[in-house]
Amino acid sequence: MGKIYWDCDGVLRDFEMAVWGRRCGKWMQDVDGVDLYDYVDNNISLLETAPSLPYLDVVKRMHVWFGKSISILTCQPKEWIEPTRRWLHRRLANVPFDMKVVGASEDKVSLLGEGDILVDDHPRLVGCAKVVTVTWGYNKGLGGLRVSSMGDMIDLICAFYHKGAEYGKLGSGANVKG
Ligand SMILES: [Mg+2]
Repeated sequence: MGKIYWDCDGVLRDFEMAVWGRRCGKWMQDVDGVDLYDYVDNNISLLETAPSLPYLDVVKRMHVWFGKSISILTCQPKEWIEPTRRWLHRRLANVPFDMKVVGASEDKVSLLGEGDILVDDHPRLVGCAKVVTVTWGYNKGLGGLRVSSMGDMIDLICAFYHKGAEYGKLGSGANVKG
């Protein structure tokens, strides 16, 4: 059986709020006139202190529900990798996970095997085979398979592992167990 790969920023970690402090709705824009990468390099601790997105809680439950470890597939500059790993260790305490880092987001798709899917938010990956896009202001309206709510995320995970019936009517958060 294939597995679900999870992007980090925009899926599990709230990079947008950590960097801009608001939902700015634009992809990779400057921060107060400073290049995004320079800004993060100069405020590297934000990668560790960033809030999580609510989807993280659902993804963690995947381990409880189905006994699956969490496979992270992320694109990070070299200097961001260790702070990101520490963020994941803290946020996924007691949940087994592994983290693969690629040099470019487009490289993720070629790593997907038979039956795998990738949940990501990158506008350039919208509509790629095996990619499910988490909807944000910067990628909406581009089509593709989508997760736009917690209910959608629960549906996706349960449908992927073919055990949705155990969790009642899919998509209503009230039926989540774990
Ligand atoms: Mg992302």
